[in-house]
Order: sequence, then structure tokens, then C-alpha cells
Amino acid sequence: MSIADNLARVRAEIAASAAACGRAAGEIVLVAVSKRQPAAAIREAYAAGQRDFGENYLQELEAKRDELADLKNIRWHFIGHLQSRKAPRLADGRVLLHGIDSASAAQKLADAATGQPVPLLLQINIGGEATKSGIAPESAETFAQAHLLKAGLDWQGLMAIPPETSDTLEATAFFRRMRELRDTLSQRFDRELKLSMGMSGDYEAAIAEGADYVRIGTAIFGPRVE
Ligand SMILES: *Cc1c(COP(=O)(O)O)cnc(C)c1O
Repeated sequence: MSIADNLARVRAEIAASAAACGRAAGEIVLVAVSKRQPAAAIREAYAAGQRDFGENYLQELEAKRDELADLKNIRWHFIGHLQSRKAPRLADGRVLLHGIDSASAAQKLADAATGQPVPLLLQINIGGEATKSGIAPESAETFAQAHLLKAGLDWQGLMAIPPETSDTLEATAFFRRMRELRDTLSQRFDRELKLSMGMSGDYEAAIAEGADYVRIGTAIFGPRVE
């Protein structure tokens, strides 16, 4: 299967999942996760119409952005954990940051923002896993109030990586908790917050629970280069 074939299949599945719950497929953004994939693979996906790409490592994102500077209207997403000392490098307002969960990173971004405010999502540790980044769901409101409403930041929603499971019902329960938290916070802060959730193995369940961004790597590009 070529990258174009994989993309077509993933897009069709996104459309079917959206239709099944009465959503428009066009409101869901497919972020093609290109970490540890060569720039040539990104070109192939771009040629097949893909425009949103996600990277986990800052250096890799910067290198690929330079190498692919000729691709018009490409949109980069940073989906990894951002160390606060490196935050100023992503403060130009052109990259959506999915994995913000520290006060110091938020502050550094706000301080470094020059032009448009930095768009970002708050990462939630929805499964309460010691090994995962993110703010505990019950602390999200306090954290957002204290750190995400600053000038220079454009807080747009929540992101999560739920615990790995092959059980769709279990995955759905985590996605549903994310949706409920998003609804609560949207009301509390009077803003339309988005949800970034769902990966190759579980994006259909995520869409059913309201995902606005799905982050899909291996289903599009195949196994990653180690
Ligand atoms: C790698 C990664 C993905 C994509 O995972 P796949 O299983 O390859 O689809 C999505 N989100 C994050 C945060 C990742 O690190």
C-alpha cells in the first residue's frame, strides 16, 4: 500500500466515523504524524493532498520545516512534550502546540510571542499514568486559569493520549471523560475548546466522542524508522 492509498483509506474511515455520529467529516482535522519518517514520505503525503503534519521532536520539526519550505500551506503541529527552555523556538504562532502541560513552558511562550498569539492545547493525563505527561483532569481548570489566559497565548483546547488498550469500550470511556472535561471548561471559560485525541489504533472511537484533531502516524506512513 502506498502512502496515498493509506491516506485515502484513513480519510474514508474518518468520513464514515463522522457520518455515523452525525458529524461533518470536514470539521475533523487529520494530523499526519510524520515523526521518524523521511521528508520524502511527507512529500508523498503532501502530493496526495495532506496539509497537516505532526512531529514530536523539536529538532526534527525544525529540520523538516527547512527542508520542506517549498511546500505551500503546509501546517505543522508539535505533538511532543515541549521543554520550557526550548519553548521560545515555537513561539512564532505558526505551529499548533498539542502537548503543553507546564507553567514554565506557558510562561516562556507568552514571553517570547511576538506576532500572533501562540496557539496551544493543554495536555491532560486522562488515565492518571505515572509515565505520561499531562495535567490531572481535576487540576485542569485551576491550571488553565493561572497559566493559559495570558496575553501572547491562544488556548484552543485539550489533548490526551489515553492508556493503551485493545478494548474499544475502555478507550471510549477515556475519550468520553475528555469530552466531558472539554464541555465543562468551554462553559467555564466561555470559549469553544477543541479536542485532540485518537491515534492509528483508536481514532474511530475518538471521533465518535468528539475529536476535532486525530493524530495518525503508522496507519498512513507504516512503521517508523528506529
Ligand atoms: C506517535 C504519536 C502519534 C501517532 O501514533 P500512531 O500510533 O503511529 O498513529 C499520535 N500522537 C502522539 C502524541 C504521538 O506521539
